[in-house]
Amino acid sequence: MTDLASLTIHELAPKLRKKEISSVELTHSVLKRIDRLDSKIGAFITVCNEQAKAQAKSVDAQIAKGQYAGPLMGIPLAPKDIYLTEGIKTTCASKILENYVPPYNSTVIQKFLEAQSVIVGKVNMDEFAMGSSNENSSFKPVKNPWDLTRVPGGSSGGSAAAVSADLCSASLGTDTGGSIRQPASLCSIVGLKPTYGRVSRYGVIAFASSLDQMGPMTKDVEDCALMMNVMAGHDPHDSTSVNVPVPDYTGSLRQSIKGMKIGMPKEYFPKGIDSQVADSVKQAIKKLEELGAKIEEVSLPNTEYATATYYIIAPAEASSNLARFDGVRYGYRASAENLSEMYELTKTEGFGREVKRRIMLGTYVLSAGYYDAYYRKAQKARTVIRRDFEEAFKKVDCLVCPVSPTTAFKIGEKAGDPLQMYLSDIFTIPVNMAGLPGLALPCGFDKNNLPIGMQLIGKPFDEETLFKVGHAFEQATEWHKKRPPLTA
Ligand code: GLN
Repeated sequence: MTDLASLTIHELAPKLRKKEISSVELTHSVLKRIDRLDSKIGAFITVCNEQAKAQAKSVDAQIAKGQYAGPLMGIPLAPKDIYLTEGIKTTCASKILENYVPPYNSTVIQKFLEAQSVIVGKVNMDEFAMGSSNENSSFKPVKNPWDLTRVPGGSSGGSAAAVSADLCSASLGTDTGGSIRQPASLCSIVGLKPTYGRVSRYGVIAFASSLDQMGPMTKDVEDCALMMNVMAGHDPHDSTSVNVPVPDYTGSLRQSIKGMKIGMPKEYFPKGIDSQVADSVKQAIKKLEELGAKIEEVSLPNTEYATATYYIIAPAEASSNLARFDGVRYGYRASAENLSEMYELTKTEGFGREVKRRIMLGTYVLSAGYYDAYYRKAQKARTVIRRDFEEAFKKVDCLVCPVSPTTAFKIGEKAGDPLQMYLSDIFTIPVNMAGLPGLALPCGFDKNNLPIGMQLIGKPFDEETLFKVGHAFEQATEWHKKRPPLTA
């Protein structure tokens, strides 16, 4: 019998609705799988056994009464441990928040609770979402279910590993420079970074506020669209969330892509990239052409400045956002003789190495005398990067390129070399800089059976086109159906 945990949301929803399966049954099968496999993978920081079972029971009772809340009802979700969950520990994978239990829910979590989804646990990540390998978690690294000696990517590595190993039906990630798309690609799942402003950031612990976006991580494109139907929309609690109508994201899924113009940015296939990655993405592009799309080469000439620019802007914003973890209001507090020693020791003991590196970098680029040379200059570079995309989108409907320059690397391989680690995000960072939507989806495997992903980049608020192209590609291929060869 197929494990219920392996089914997609769009497969599960009609079964739940018709009472062919119960939410209790589904939740149990997911919890059992977590119990059996997660000691090897390390995807979960918190498993909500009792809470999830109680939620599932209440879902079944409502369905029995004919009160159906929609396709997310009864679906087991595992949000990244950066989303505030009322009454459930939220750590951001940091020692400084090790025992923090939030008094309220983030808007996105609240929406999924109203849709009657079941929260089975909170998943692991790089501390404060800073990293590309999940090795920066203060608690434990996450292993890639496709090869347990390799990283799952980051910072939403727990999310990607949990979805690919069927330890939940779907997850919620965050993406500041690639943290949804890169791990999705390294674990062979689908992940969307929505347009900046499309999804509320309220109640999600901030890293770099002008770049952070919340997004779904799922087993296929249709599930991603279903999740966006719940999460997208304006929120008065987040002044950067934009008040534009939310379409039905499943509505355009089945439309043909015939005649659509898709751009292939030439800067995204540089010499240094893994040739198997480039080949798989080029094969995928051929497939899109077969499906009727017109492929055109385009240029985004300022791509080369994106990573350097990001590593000024993101740490600058992080240094300001993380100032609140001072041992006074919440989280870890070091014992000390006086107030300033308490501040110092709390941060020294509470934050990990990478987080401290970012705070120092950020404080430096914002300091008097350096502000113009670094921060202001970076803002200008950001504008130029955004304009490149605007130019390209005058000619094409969306763009296609790789997600990550390599497949999953070995645990420890880049951990000692921050610069190498930062380069994992060269193809994802520009999208955050420009505030655009980006969809990562499976498009192949290398000779070691490691997943390869492709990225579709869209115009602002045009997630629909990405879903349409992604779905057409999935219908014509089998990559998204492959699951890691895991045995307990
Ligand atoms: N890997 C990038 C970083 O370390 C992006 C992280 C993210 O998107 N949260 O900053």
